[in-house]
Amino acid sequence: MIRRTSQDIRRLNRFEVLRRVYAGPGAMSRQDIAAATGLSFATVANLTAELLEAGVLVEAGHEESGGGRPRARLAVNAERGALIGVDIAETSVHAELFDLALTVRHSVERPLPPGDVHPSDVVDALAGAVGELLAASGTDRGRVLGAGVSVPGMVEREGGVSSFSPYWSWHEVPLRALLDERLGLPLWLDNPLRASTVAEMWCGAGREVDDLVVLTLRAGVGAGIAIGGQLYRGFTNSAGEWGHTCLALDGRPCTCGNRGCVEAYVSLRGIAETWRELAPGDARATGPDDAVTVAALARAADAGDPAAA
Ligand SMILES: [Zn+2]
Repeated sequence: MIRRTSQDIRRLNRFEVLRRVYAGPGAMSRQDIAAATGLSFATVANLTAELLEAGVLVEAGHEESGGGRPRARLAVNAERGALIGVDIAETSVHAELFDLALTVRHSVERPLPPGDVHPSDVVDALAGAVGELLAASGTDRGRVLGAGVSVPGMVEREGGVSSFSPYWSWHEVPLRALLDERLGLPLWLDNPLRASTVAEMWCGAGREVDDLVVLTLRAGVGAGIAIGGQLYRGFTNSAGEWGHTCLALDGRPCTCGNRGCVEAYVSLRGIAETWRELAPGDARATGPDDAVTVAALARAADAGDPAAA
């Protein structure tokens, strides 16, 4: 059982208040926030006072409350600082600068060299991208409250070590330490699955809910899990990594060397392969690009093609 101190609870509650304000349709009164979070009005009043004091929230007008005192509406203070998000992909590094209301202010993309990319190539591209973002948006580095970096593969979050990359021969790369040296910004590293789950929770399909599963079906497959409004990592930080769970004994060969993995059936490649098995000779199923094939499959299924269905 996890023992939570009152400080932990306060931090969790503050997180929840802020998440609801971000998720809301606009500025919210303290009453709205209390209703959305299930916290008492007194607790919400306390926490919002802290967030106002810190400049994270601002008062944004008032609403009538049926005869009583008008209620102040609270919103995120967009000008309180900047945030940076970075997506490291197979062929490029994409970086965006946001204000605190999560509006994109500037975005840049830097290509990575082809082939087996060295960690220093990624660090160079990322540092260059961040420098360009700051210069182009006229943002002082000191105003950046933090940068979140999505790193493909297995990322040990606390130490920021990339222990496995699906694209490059990286082993135990101390990526956070390398980036710390170059960027001098508070950094959060995580893999794309967990980063996108957090994004859905704050800005996407998970805004109104506490329990959420995000499924990715691309070259690989995976599930990001949130429970009670918190990202669920599991004991070994690998919750939802089910691509290489055995689905069919002695089934199809998988890229990992085993047979019958989930990924061999429900990744883009696996789905395209199943179509080819069910519709031998169908030219639409034989293209070299699995994403194009799966898009054609969806159209064929919509049109009532029995094999596609
Ligand atoms: Zn496998």
